[in-house]
Amino acid sequence: MAKKKTPVGAAILAESAHTGVDEAENFGDRIARYGQAHARSLLMLEHLRGAPSVEAKKTAAGLAGCGNYLHFREYFTVGKVRLHNAQFCKQHLVCPLCAIRRGAKALGAYLARWQVIQEERPDLRPYLITLTVKNGDDLQERQNHLTKALRRLMDRRRYFNAGTRGAPWTELCKAEGGVYTLELTNKGNGWHPHCHMIALASSAPLQGDLSEEWHRVTGDSMIVDVRPITGDPSEGFMEVFKYAVKFSDLSLADNWHAAQTLKGKRLLNSFGLFRGVEIPESLLDEPLDELPYWDRFYRYIGGEYQFTGESPKPRGV
Ligand SMILES: [Zn+2]
Repeated sequence: MAKKKTPVGAAILAESAHTGVDEAENFGDRIARYGQAHARSLLMLEHLRGAPSVEAKKTAAGLAGCGNYLHFREYFTVGKVRLHNAQFCKQHLVCPLCAIRRGAKALGAYLARWQVIQEERPDLRPYLITLTVKNGDDLQERQNHLTKALRRLMDRRRYFNAGTRGAPWTELCKAEGGVYTLELTNKGNGWHPHCHMIALASSAPLQGDLSEEWHRVTGDSMIVDVRPITGDPSEGFMEVFKYAVKFSDLSLADNWHAAQTLKGKRLLNSFGLFRGVEIPESLLDEPLDELPYWDRFYRYIGGEYQFTGESPKPRGV
């Protein structure tokens, strides 16, 4: 098989998540990137076909049915293209196409909530906070370490804000709402789990103080980054929602190991003003009802999505 480097990862989601992604003029880039994402899913499918476990076979069966065709509708009077129908495996930790779509959906849902919050609380600003733990060879152990440390910090925030006697302060007490995800890298020096968080605060959380707290909580790690999100919020927010796409930056073997280790774990959490945001189940776009459209039907053929001109079946069939 051709060893074409598939530049999946953040760039793909960037395209998918930005407002204006459904503009007809951006469609060429969009379909090319979906094709690159699908190419990686097929590499994973091939990787799993050799694996003996039942789990691998089940995952492979899902991948085999995912993204083989994409049915778009072009609403030509408004210059928009929406994904109308497709079959998705929803195994977003091993399938970058599903990861892109889910990341974009999550981003859209949280940006919409942020717009509402901003109206009511113009004093709040979004900050991007990154918390990391030291690399290690044992993914499960490192992941547990990160999760426990985060829980301790979030507990402190909750107890202090509730006025619990003797509860210690944390810089996160300034956050009146937040959403965070757990992300993984492994660049040959061991597993590196970390957390990206959007925190809404009226005064900036201090990086130095948070770093000291984090060191006390983790016992081994003090690498913390805090920066305000300025300009288009979708760019800063995207840091948080691209976590699943980032799995495709791992080697196939690492990706599969990580997906199994993290299966069923909550990798996206929210609190305060961001609590209760619902991410739509469907990975399709919302149709633009009442507007005329042309169907644009694509199949993955010869390493890319190609327009076939087929008459598509109705949605959901
Ligand atoms: Zn999929």
